[in-house]
Amino acid sequence: MTARILVVDDIPANVKLLEVRLLAEYFEVLTATNGADAIETCENGKVDVVLLDVMMPDMDGFEVCRRLKNDPATAHIPVVMITALDQISDRIRGLEVGADDFLTKPVNDLQLMTRVKSLVRLKMLTDELRLRASTTRNIGIEELLSRRQPSEEVAPRILLIDERASSYERILKMLRNKMDVDVVTDPHAGFFQAAEEPYECVIISTAFAEFDPLRLCSQLRSLDRTRFLPIILVADVGEDERIIRGLELGINDYLIRPIDQQEMLARLRTQVRRKRYNDHLRASVTQTIEMAVTDGLTGLHNRRYLDSHLQTLFDRAVARRRSLSVMITDLDRFKSVNDTYGHDGGDDVLREFARRLRKNVRGIDLACRYGGEEFVVVMPDTDGDIAERVAERIRAEIARTPFLVGKDGQALEVTISIGVSSLRRGPDTVEDLMKRADIALYEAKTGGRNRVVAKAA
Ligand code: GH3
Ligand code: MG
Ligand code: MG
Repeated sequence: MTARILVVDDIPANVKLLEVRLLAEYFEVLTATNGADAIETCENGKVDVVLLDVMMPDMDGFEVCRRLKNDPATAHIPVVMITALDQISDRIRGLEVGADDFLTKPVNDLQLMTRVKSLVRLKMLTDELRLRASTTRNIGIEELLSRRQPSEEVAPRILLIDERASSYERILKMLRNKMDVDVVTDPHAGFFQAAEEPYECVIISTAFAEFDPLRLCSQLRSLDRTRFLPIILVADVGEDERIIRGLELGINDYLIRPIDQQEMLARLRTQVRRKRYNDHLRASVTQTIEMAVTDGLTGLHNRRYLDSHLQTLFDRAVARRRSLSVMITDLDRFKSVNDTYGHDGGDDVLREFARRLRKNVRGIDLACRYGGEEFVVVMPDTDGDIAERVAERIRAEIARTPFLVGKDGQALEVTISIGVSSLRRGPDTVEDLMKRADIALYEAKTGGRNRVVAKAA
């Protein structure tokens, strides 16, 4: 795992010390000796983790962190604050300005590497999601993200898997009134509960008499539903080997007994904040993809979606020797609706038409807005006769019940023309199938409108 780490400390010797250790682990290292330079380096991009000294003249580490976290361009970069030993008040201040993690001076090697690696791993995941979001976007990812920020207020839901009463009671006491914690003493039951409930972090104790806690970690990492669920291991002094194995398996962080309450809260909050941010990003990506294939006015699929899926449905029908039909519908004299009721009135008609269309086709049919006032329905497993009957039913339903247009809901009679075509037994292509439906539609228009014409295969 290679990544770019920015080391910030006003004392060059301290910078050098960290730099050498990080280089030995094949990280790329950037350095800064004051806050302004550090911010500039972050703004210019490509920093994966910042190691930030708290005590600096001019601008201290808290201020640097606050500024990084308040700028949308740098807010996603993990920041590790390096505080003097046992400065609990510093940790609390660090949390308030959004720091992702803490290290105390003198920095312990195992802690340095594991924290940096775990943050790099999280950052990579976030980067991938950001990239996916921005490449599929038709509106900006930043806008999507700012629309509903994940809430920091809701108490995090934590699952504690620990069989020793003295241990879990201590932890429960530390988290009381701050987090919503469930305890499970049996590791197998804990695994199922983690998969079933929407927890935001799992704490796993290493103190099981007859069970390997790392097995639980690896099970949680391999199950789809818990793959991204943060895991914090609670270990005893001297369990470094086990912690390293755990980190290789994908645990996100660890705590060593005796547990410091502030540290536990800070580490939990960091994991939960990251999870909420990533969940939010993932939902935005899904939403962006959906928007790209959905027609905004009617909520039906758009032409882009039709273009990519019709071929699939067509190939499947051919391969399975099943029937397939398409219909193209076009509203009659729609221009005059716009002329009489305005564009908004026209939009009302399009929305209502789409609603009726959706209601009149099956779930497996693909209904799309093809453009303007033209709609296409693809009907798998449907031969020409049935497709013609479906089309006729839709035509009659549109003509029978007037549409209500505008604020005062004026009744307006609307009719449509429909062209239907079906998959041929001989050689056929998607283009030909669509062309035959289009010709049929044209015949329906020239034949007087408000009618269905089906092209026999
Ligand atoms: P025909 O019976 O021959 O289909 O006549 P028509 O007036 O429906 O045909 P034409 O294709 O000439 O006109 C379509 C009209 O649909 C023109 C265009 O302004 C209108 N239109 C296209 N998209 C929209 C839309 O999103 N909203 C509204 N309100 N009107 C639209
Ligand atoms: Mg028309
Ligand atoms: Mg038209």
